[in-house]
Amino acid sequence: MSKEKWYNHPWLLAIFAVVGPGIYDLIKGYPFLDTYKKIINFLYIGISTFFNFNIKLWWLLLAIVIYKTISFLIKKYRTKEKDFKDYTSGTLKNWKWSWEWTRPSVNSNWIVSNLTPHCSANGMCDTQMLRGYNRQAQIEYKCPRCGHNTGNNIEYERDIEALIIDNIQKKNF
Ligand SMILES: [Zn+2]
Repeated sequence: MSKEKWYNHPWLLAIFAVVGPGIYDLIKGYPFLDTYKKIINFLYIGISTFFNFNIKLWWLLLAIVIYKTISFLIKKYRTKEKDFKDYTSGTLKNWKWSWEWTRPSVNSNWIVSNLTPHCSANGMCDTQMLRGYNRQAQIEYKCPRCGHNTGNNIEYERDIEALIIDNIQKKNF
């Protein structure tokens, strides 16, 4: 899961070093305006000087080490910023859900509480639904605003809670 910017990639510089002169030769063959030619020439000399510079291997290694260290620190810092306690709603399976994070006691783990599905009727209602039971004592949810009833076609809170925790573990929230 590499999120490194493409232009930071060392391989790109290497490819450019190899392909660059070829492109230059190609452009040289066309009758451009003199000024434009001069600019390209100037750039080419600058770039080729840069790439032909007699660099010592340990500079390169040092640069790689510094680059890796910095990107590692940035990544670590960013992960720290993302707090699972800010993750309090989301579409899991087919329904939208919202929940809270509570801790039964100071030293215990955080747990998901008040996990509630939102009404999806008309695509706009978005009201927290009420949990109830039908005549066969099966769980169903009903919308207090528009009366939408899920009937038997429900999603289970236990599954949703497991998916929330799984998303957090995969840092996918
Ligand atoms: Zn509704």
